[in-house]
Amino acid sequence: MNDTDRRAQLAANLEAVRARIAAACRSAARDPAEVGLVVVTKYFPAADVRLLAGLGVAEVGENRHQEAVEKAAACADLGLRWHFIGALQSNKAAAVAGYADVVESVDRRKLVPALARGAAAAGRVVECLIQVSLDPPGRPGRSGAGAEEVPALAEAVLAAPDLRLGGVMGVAPLGQDPGPAFARLAELAETVRGLDPSARVVSAGMSGDLEEAIRHGATHVRIGSAVLGPRPQIK
Ligand SMILES: *Cc1c(COP(=O)(O)O)cnc(C)c1O
Repeated sequence: MNDTDRRAQLAANLEAVRARIAAACRSAARDPAEVGLVVVTKYFPAADVRLLAGLGVAEVGENRHQEAVEKAAACADLGLRWHFIGALQSNKAAAVAGYADVVESVDRRKLVPALARGAAAAGRVVECLIQVSLDPPGRPGRSGAGAEEVPALAEAVLAAPDLRLGGVMGVAPLGQDPGPAFARLAELAETVRGLDPSARVVSAGMSGDLEEAIRHGATHVRIGSAVLGPRPQIK
């Protein structure tokens, strides 16, 4: 596909997603200005990021460090806000803090000093979201902190220099009604706001469940395939 066709396709998809966000806000009696759109560009080339920036996208999300660091460098002139949304290894955390404006996947204490070190080395302040597990308790391989770990983790971020506590992030469990999961996330968001009233971000909702997330108070939705199309297969 040439650039002109790809641009037209992305523009049409973006318009459809923005219309879905607006409709969800209408039915939830919320102001669409309260819901930020993060376009998840993982597995797609920097050329797509550039086209999206030209279409008014201001925030993008990536989930793998190697891919993200290269894309952020290739798109450094675009003034985008980069969200790191993937599982974070502690030996990569400092490097991620070198380019990510928001790290949405802070799910354990060990990451906090590493992120703070990376932020200080880069001379920047990095916003951190506490990733909360919305999977049934005790499920192996869950991603995200357990509900009981959230306050201490939030306090650790608040105490760290060069990090700012933004709020919470969650991914609804696959193959289940996302409503109850997003309701639990909203409760934990309230807990975190009790520790710092300015930590208001609730990052929830993907291509398949953004309406439900907005109904439950999401301030940011992370949308990949509904904007970019099906992701290329990876090994
Ligand atoms: C890939 C990804 C998304 C986007 O998913 P889509 O279903 O393609 O919209 C959102 N959040 C996280 C954490 C992801 O890894």
